[in-house]
Amino acid sequence: MSAPNIETIVSLSKRRGFVYPASEIYGGLGSSWDYGPLGVELANNIKKSWWNWLVYERDDVEGLDSSIIQNRLTWKYSGHETTFSDPLVDCRACKGRFRLDKLQDVQCPNHSGVHPGDDKECDLTEAREFNLMFRTTVGAVSSDEDESALAYLRPETAQGIFINFANVLNTSRRKLPFGIAQIGKAFRNEVTPGNFIFRTREFEQMEMEYFVRPEDAPSIHQEWIDGFQKWIGSLGISPDNLKLYEQSKQELAHYAERTVDILYRYFPEREDEDKQWDELMGIANRTDYDLRVHSKKPEDAEGKRINPDSTDDLSYFDTQTNERFYPYVIEPAIGVNRTLLAVMMDAYTEKTNEKGETRVILKLKPDLAPIKVAVLPLAKNKPEIVEMAKKLKHDLQPSMRSVYDDTGGIGKLYARQDEIGTPFCVTVDHESLEDNAVTVRDRDTWEQERVSTSELKEYLSERLK
Ligand code: ATP
Repeated sequence: MSAPNIETIVSLSKRRGFVYPASEIYGGLGSSWDYGPLGVELANNIKKSWWNWLVYERDDVEGLDSSIIQNRLTWKYSGHETTFSDPLVDCRACKGRFRLDKLQDVQCPNHSGVHPGDDKECDLTEAREFNLMFRTTVGAVSSDEDESALAYLRPETAQGIFINFANVLNTSRRKLPFGIAQIGKAFRNEVTPGNFIFRTREFEQMEMEYFVRPEDAPSIHQEWIDGFQKWIGSLGISPDNLKLYEQSKQELAHYAERTVDILYRYFPEREDEDKQWDELMGIANRTDYDLRVHSKKPEDAEGKRINPDSTDDLSYFDTQTNERFYPYVIEPAIGVNRTLLAVMMDAYTEKTNEKGETRVILKLKPDLAPIKVAVLPLAKNKPEIVEMAKKLKHDLQPSMRSVYDDTGGIGKLYARQDEIGTPFCVTVDHESLEDNAVTVRDRDTWEQERVSTSELKEYLSERLK
């Protein structure tokens, strides 16, 4: 099974310390969330998995960490200043403000259970475009309106990669095809954020730009679509809850030749199957659009430079064919937060114990689990048992994230670890003092095995693989 709805994960997250509402003590800030002790570990493990797979396990991808605030011209020439907007409508009846293409995701404030526009009382205005970039000013300016100091928080990490294309190419001495990968925060002043961490105004992206010869773009694009389905599967997400969506010509961004989204079943509670899905990631063939628009050389039909501000040309010289051209770019872009939500929903299961009580088990893949092993003393009033348990925790810690917990009876401690996805609990009991062995309990089967302390680290490492 997986979680019946997002709400189940919202309450588990708050209860156990994965995700909390941001600024909670001041009444919150619409759709902002803070990641607690377990959430930050899970997010880090997802990022590690992505980075390992792309940057370390392959030979053709470099990493990058570019600035969140770039020269405003970046966003002028990328097209974001003029086109990065969503269609906004107001409702004259309820005074709500909504994104026209996402009305199904929100409810009318006046009629619960009704989507804006679905009731005869709803009175929507014509749509107008609303730019999603957050504005700020750079330096000690006299007024927030000072246009010369205007800058934006990046709405995607991708542009930081494009404007560094020549830097990375020259310093890493790469040849096509190769990729540049980046993980970082992005900001969008979303009109209707919501559904927990699915759509927020501040979020984190994992984006890779993979540069290829134009004629190779279609086949390499397909390879990345297949590759990412496998990687998402490696996070433990069931193929039954994933599906591909081919964007139609009308939906494609102006720069894209083809885009395929990978959707996750974020809304299993919705009766209509078609409405259960939403985007986890997009994989686009962005053509040579971005490298061209940031380059100083290309000219328009009248012979005028399309970018008179750029000081560099982001073309590529192929020494084998003696050709110079702008590479095409394949972009797999995925949100850390949406991945974390999908991972938690998919790992969520319930199991009934012998007393007929329902227990939650988060069946996370061991490499994603925030905590790998919990060491629990059976009797916390027995100093020798406590000492042995604490020592075991310290011995395990350098090889696997371990915790010591003695804040409840053993049943409660097991239940807590199951709920946060800890693959193994190690229990130290009275017998352990005699036989130097401990009980290892498996999260998913609840089966227990006696293991000698001298073999414990090796035993756990093997089973965590
Ligand atoms: P959507 O159509 O849902 O607004 P998008 O197609 O605009 O998303 P992209 O620009 O392709 O999104 O961004 C790449 C990825 O970044 C998305 O697939 C998603 O995982 C993540 N993402 C985008 N916007 C948000 C957001 N507001 N909150 C959380 N994650 C986001």
